[in-house]
Amino acid sequence: MNKSFLDMLACPMDKHHPLELHGDGGADPIMEGVLYCTECGRFYMISEGIPVLLPDDLRNRAAEMDHLRGLQGLPEKVTLRGRPWNLGA
Ligand SMILES: [Zn+2]
Repeated sequence: MNKSFLDMLACPMDKHHPLELHGDGGADPIMEGVLYCTECGRFYMISEGIPVLLPDDLRNRAAEMDHLRGLQGLPEKVTLRGRPWNLGA
């Protein structure tokens, strides 16, 4: 995902914009990372360069948990408090 795409992406649940980018290590294009909505606290993965911006009922919990475990440098608001699920507890 080209970093300039960030300007065009919004949270699918509340349309909040812009989304925060984490865990990309400064790469451009971004191959692996997380987009975070500061409005609702949801995160969305960027996997193999593709941002996965799906509403809750279409999300894949197992794949997203694996994604979180595989990334370095994510803030706790994503890893421990991110919605709809996180690595806390
Ligand atoms: Zn949101």
